[in-house]
Amino acid sequence: MANPRDKSSLDRLAGLSYLNPAAPEPWASFVEQIERVRPHLGELERWIETLKHPKRALIVDVPIERDDGTVAHYEGYRVQHSLSRGPGKGGVRFHPDVTLNEVMALAGWMTIKNAAVGLPFGGAKGGIRVDPASVSKGELQRITRRYTSEIGIVIGPDKDIPAPDVGTNAMTMAVMMDTFSMNRGGTATGVVTGKPIALGGSLGRQEATGRGVYITAREAGRHLQLPIEGARVVVQGFGNVGGIGARLFHEAGARVIAIADHTATLVNEAGIDIPAALEHTAAHGGLAGFAGAAPIDIEDFWRLQCEFLVPAALEGQLTVDRAAGVRARVVVEGANGPTTPAADDVLRERGILVVPDVLANAGGVTVSYFEWVQDFSSFFWTEDEINDRLERIMVGAFGAIWKIAEEKRVSLRTAAFIIACHRVLEARAERGLYP
Ligand code: GLU
Repeated sequence: MANPRDKSSLDRLAGLSYLNPAAPEPWASFVEQIERVRPHLGELERWIETLKHPKRALIVDVPIERDDGTVAHYEGYRVQHSLSRGPGKGGVRFHPDVTLNEVMALAGWMTIKNAAVGLPFGGAKGGIRVDPASVSKGELQRITRRYTSEIGIVIGPDKDIPAPDVGTNAMTMAVMMDTFSMNRGGTATGVVTGKPIALGGSLGRQEATGRGVYITAREAGRHLQLPIEGARVVVQGFGNVGGIGARLFHEAGARVIAIADHTATLVNEAGIDIPAALEHTAAHGGLAGFAGAAPIDIEDFWRLQCEFLVPAALEGQLTVDRAAGVRARVVVEGANGPTTPAADDVLRERGILVVPDVLANAGGVTVSYFEWVQDFSSFFWTEDEINDRLERIMVGAFGAIWKIAEEKRVSLRTAAFIIACHRVLEARAERGLYP
């Protein structure tokens, strides 16, 4: 049977409402997470359906001329899940498996994340169904430029501000900023965040997501009497989130015993030399061939005994089966949506604490917020100022979410969703419906 993922999401959408919660995909997980907040909303429950209906979803065709003269078409998206609390904000993902359903869920999680840490943004996300490794540099630049032009009608510094995500980086943002600015006839640095420093980027932005993962793990450890020093850490994903997170754990004296990326899954119980692994990845494009650790089966990887398990790759990785075998004290979600709702329940029953994505990986968008503020004021902060403010926001959000979780006897995820949904729906209710 053909793999349904082989079909373009446009094909799969034919005859199907894109809101169909029966689809076993990330959007269904997001909707289920929202439902869990219903009993805690009081009068605001009246507005809960808002969160199950993305405000706006744009599908664009991205045609380019390939280097060999042929024409290729890629499918692109920009979803604005909510604009109730401010402009849309969220990354752009370039990946061969990107679907509208996935981008909708990722946009929804941005709404919750931004509200949970108190940033004055709604939630949005974008993506292109493309494997960046399968096209040349020039082709990728043409794809990025055409995509930016196509979504140019919905983005802007005061409308919706993209940023990097899986498969994109500061260079992608430079191209997006330039394209938007050329179309507009004037430089608009604040249209994207995660830019190179020379174009109005912020110090500390590149490290920010990994730093936030580390800070929230440390805070969770503090509550559980589980110091980072000497702790065993397992990290799935070795890119901008997992790689930097692993480095910060390593620098703080933790023992990172296993790491994985799309090329290799590796273990070394004595502790992996993370700076060496990062150097290897920078030189070879992945962990494959790194001699400082031994290959391990991916299912055994999930069962490794450790204090902190950090899924920092893609969504849907921690399934019920895997959750049943996890031998970590704390799961810190560096990725967006790595744990399915059913797996979440298994982890909770087994007494494993989950620091949810909407808190654990919020460091990236928090420094994106600082970047956007700096671009608007054309006044730039030092790296220490950025890191101090990031630390304050992350520790403050962690404490507030922990308190609600204790008071209401719910998971940290549900507590984060309770705080966020209250903020979003209060804004929704106060604005009222138009017309
Ligand atoms: N892509 C990141 C995330 O999922 C960052 C988004 C942003 O900075 O806007 O949170």
